Amino acid sequence: MMQRRDPRSAARKILTKLNVSDLTGLSLKDVVQNFGPYVKEDPMVGAQGRILFIGSLALITINANIQHYGQSRFVLAHEFGHAELHAGIKPLFNCDADSFKQWLKKGEQEQEANEFAAELLMPSKIFAGECIGQEFSLDLIAHLADRFQTSQTATALRIVEQGSFPIAIVYSENKKVKWFAKNRSFPLGHVVIGSDTPPESASRHWFNTGISKQKVLDSWTWFFNDYNQQNFSRQRVREFILPLPRYSGVLSFLRLE
Ligand SMILES: [Zn+2]
Repeated sequence: MMQRRDPRSAARKILTKLNVSDLTGLSLKDVVQNFGPYVKEDPMVGAQGRILFIGSLALITINANIQHYGQSRFVLAHEFGHAELHAGIKPLFNCDADSFKQWLKKGEQEQEANEFAAELLMPSKIFAGECIGQEFSLDLIAHLADRFQTSQTATALRIVEQGSFPIAIVYSENKKVKWFAKNRSFPLGHVVIGSDTPPESASRHWFNTGISKQKVLDSWTWFFNDYNQQNFSRQRVREFILPLPRYSGVLSFLRLE
């Protein structure tokens, strides 16, 4: 039985082997090919990326229709993660849009590939340093996505995890909550996955109208099911959003006022 590799340390090992602190300025394709897999781009339907293992060879295909450079880089880093972590487990990983939303199911292979990609493209030490002295904002997400040449969603999640901002993030699609994450300093921790976005929320407002605006809400609105909510019943929560219309999705950032 193959020993399970920790995705983050596997990614750090790549950087150590290359003797670099991060990958900006390098061609990710060259880096990946240097470690073995062959990388090509082809138009694909229903998948963002794919890795096929043939004997000792690994063939990565990235969907050539991905428009955003940061996003296709993240997909390539994710497939590289499968190559490093999951060779020998399955002959093929066909990674669709859902694979890139598996942020919270611990121990699953798609989640592990995402963790590997996040650490490879946004190494935690450097990334946390970039957050110091900053205010959390949509501008910061755009700035760091640009700095580390990766996708906005991956960057936003990284900021929430690695920064010291007491903030939570909810991703909803078609008015349904898909996943939730928070910084350890954010005191409330339970949003019901699969529930409808609250009718008063900024995300629902966007789903209904296509208009992005901030809202200040009762903490109950998002955290009605949190056992700790009563301790924060007088506190208000500010919600601001980053719409991702391509996925009919929206990222909500929640901050206590
Ligand atoms: Zn995958």
